[in-house]
Amino acid sequence: MNIDLLKRLCQTPGVPGREERVRDLIKSEVKGLFDEVRTDAMGNLICTRAPRGGKEKPKPRKVGSEKSATTRPLRVMQLCHMDEIGFYVNHIDEKGFIWTNPAGGFDPRNLFSRRVLVCTDDGDRVGVMNPGGRPIHISAPEERTKVPEVKEFFVDIGLPADKVKKHVKIGDYIVMHEPFEEVGDKLVSKAMDNRVACWLGIESVRELDRLGTGHGCEIVVAFTVQEEVGLRGARTASHAVLPDVGFGIDVTLACDTPGVPEKESVSTHGKGFALHIKDGSFISDHTLVTEVEALAKKHKIPYQRSILAAGGQDGAAAQQSAAGARAIGITVGTRYIHTVTEMIDKKDLAAVDEMKVAFDRRRRTMVRMLNEIDGVVCTTPQGAFYVYPSVKGVIGRTIRGRVADSSSELAAIILDEAEVAVVPGEAFGTPGYLRLSYALGDADLAEGVGRIQRLLAEAR
Ligand SMILES: [Zn+2]
Repeated sequence: MNIDLLKRLCQTPGVPGREERVRDLIKSEVKGLFDEVRTDAMGNLICTRAPRGGKEKPKPRKVGSEKSATTRPLRVMQLCHMDEIGFYVNHIDEKGFIWTNPAGGFDPRNLFSRRVLVCTDDGDRVGVMNPGGRPIHISAPEERTKVPEVKEFFVDIGLPADKVKKHVKIGDYIVMHEPFEEVGDKLVSKAMDNRVACWLGIESVRELDRLGTGHGCEIVVAFTVQEEVGLRGARTASHAVLPDVGFGIDVTLACDTPGVPEKESVSTHGKGFALHIKDGSFISDHTLVTEVEALAKKHKIPYQRSILAAGGQDGAAAQQSAAGARAIGITVGTRYIHTVTEMIDKKDLAAVDEMKVAFDRRRRTMVRMLNEIDGVVCTTPQGAFYVYPSVKGVIGRTIRGRVADSSSELAAIILDEAEVAVVPGEAFGTPGYLRLSYALGDADLAEGVGRIQRLLAEAR
């Protein structure tokens, strides 16, 4: 596990609207992994990797320039936001204290006595953050129990007012400044939300590349901006990419800690990736939930289902972009979220990585295979099911080097080559149609295989 990269990602400052340093780091890390890497007008980094067979040469393309969804490979988009919660400088007072405006949701109870980094055009300066008020020695009891508002906190960079004003200006940004550390089986840092997703966007594709086994889908990893202030970058990125499938990769709550009833825990550390069923912004596509769950079971990847009562993530933007997409959230349970002690379990992070690689590596679907035959056009994927309207057009033609001389033969070829269960249409009563369904799991696949074997036996 490339923990050093996660550390560098977490320690690189990048608040909503100022993600450029994180983006530069990612750009240098993804060299050679994608066919196209581009930064859009909002600052999203959109990386595209064309399908690859074992030996097949990828065909590079421009994002959004592709033909319709019916005639191209499945486009799988992974959304990973680069921004972290932070502050913008909005005032420097006559004594040189810096006052701020938050970008993202802070709980003031977590802001006391923090080290921060003030990021300016002439460098980063360490400062400390505290609320206005008296220390314990001279404060009244009622002052000690009151929680100040976020706007009552100020930053002290230890310089006189004239020097502060020389170096710092309104609009400069501030992030928390605390170390990344391995603690037992866990990793602790500020900005785990959402540099874990940036890490996954890089590492899962690196793994895919290393394995060299190819993938039938087109992979788009969008490192998005301004998620913490309302999924802003993900919206425009999804609009440009027009995905068929969107994965919102993010952290979710792991309140498996004292003071929270078990039924409100959302997720539990060490139980694998969190399969996000719903939150305040979207409901994961049910067929995709079923597919991902089946894939996790098949590859023995630990996972847990989770529901977040409020809050949102980039998967929502993918789902609701343009004419819509099938979308899902895949998350890493995180303790003490939106603090400088965001804690994840290494096993959960590894589980998300494995799941993403497994999804992208799925063998080609029948639709993709049929599309490889000249002049054959398949219909749009409908949920987990595909309907192919003209089997007659395929019989007698070569598919994957073999001639399909009957629908049973076609079924057999497909069964060998694709991760789909195939049943010739006559089994469902409509001659000339094939009804195909994804192999949703071992049970479904076994059933599909059984049916085809029976049909083949009858044909003989
Ligand atoms: Zn997030």
